[in-house]
Amino acid sequence: MMQTFWSTMAKRATPYVPGEQLNDQNVLKLNTNENPYPPSPSVIQAIRDAANVDLRRYPSPDLEQLREIIGKTYDLTKDQVFIGNGSDEVLAFSFMAFFEPGKTIRFPEITYSFYPVYAQLFDIPYETIPMKADFTLDIERFYHSEGGVIFPNPNAPTSIAIGIDDIRKILEHNPTRIVIVDEAYVDFSTQSAVSLINKYPNLLIVQTTSKSRSLAGLRVGYALGNEGLIQALIRIKNSINSYTLDRLAIAGAIASFQDWKSTKENINKIIQTRTWVSEKMRDYGFFVLPSETNFIFVTHPDFSAKQLYKLLKQRHVLVRYFNQPPINQYLRISIGTDKEMEQFFNCLSEVMASCH
Ligand code: PMP
Repeated sequence: MMQTFWSTMAKRATPYVPGEQLNDQNVLKLNTNENPYPPSPSVIQAIRDAANVDLRRYPSPDLEQLREIIGKTYDLTKDQVFIGNGSDEVLAFSFMAFFEPGKTIRFPEITYSFYPVYAQLFDIPYETIPMKADFTLDIERFYHSEGGVIFPNPNAPTSIAIGIDDIRKILEHNPTRIVIVDEAYVDFSTQSAVSLINKYPNLLIVQTTSKSRSLAGLRVGYALGNEGLIQALIRIKNSINSYTLDRLAIAGAIASFQDWKSTKENINKIIQTRTWVSEKMRDYGFFVLPSETNFIFVTHPDFSAKQLYKLLKQRHVLVRYFNQPPINQYLRISIGTDKEMEQFFNCLSEVMASCH
């Protein structure tokens, strides 16, 4: 029985279950909010060049150059930037750096399912705050948190964003606690809280290159915030692993931040697709939440979400289904290319017809 050797932390761990990965070229994969467009050719070239130089040497432990260029992108200094191996790692380090066992943190009832996983692993008590009827955040219930606050904006999987004024209110009503705003999808929205960083030392923003920058496979996420917060994250990271990013990831990420234009073009295409896809879903009788992300969250009054998910999967179309109330009547569908979404609608029509 291996388990008798496990530490209490290993026993407490309840791992996150990522979206299904079917390594079949014929699968239309709309379940993990990846970008359907490739990154800029300059990113691929930079990774190739990096592979040709000095892979035998360790990468930079302090990631100065990448921190500098990310800082510049947001009008911040490099000392206001922390980088990790995907924003999941940045979030895990943030839980370690800012939340305490014995002090209850708050996050929305419907949210990124990694938060309860970290809370449980690090023994941090948490309270989940119910959404309002329209799935927006009930702002006032985040005021005066004992241990801190974390929420995505736009939220996942609901796709809905709150405005900067609401974020300001949450910060002002938690002056001595950290408020983490997970902006994984912010480039598809208009609501970034980055402009608040220099005013609120308790604000930490977490972003990623996985969605808008088409680099989910490279694993580069980052946090933006007051220098003191960044120091705490660096301290945690350097107590676990000096080299969280490899040379290829560093080179690719630098090239991506040097080329906003191609990222922006992809974002614009995805937003255009999102608009017609949302309209067409409504024509099909779905209720579609107003999305500010690269996915939509939908429900149909006459069809079981679970059944639609299963029937789509039989036809090699993967969407995300969460088998837990109160969202077990919803599907989360990533926005692909126009062609992919036409293929999706062809399958959806067949599936809906087969249900009657
Ligand atoms: N936050 C949210 C809200 C997400 O949906 C995701 C992606 N699943 C992440 C963070 C993590 O993204 P990554 O680790 O790829 O940067």
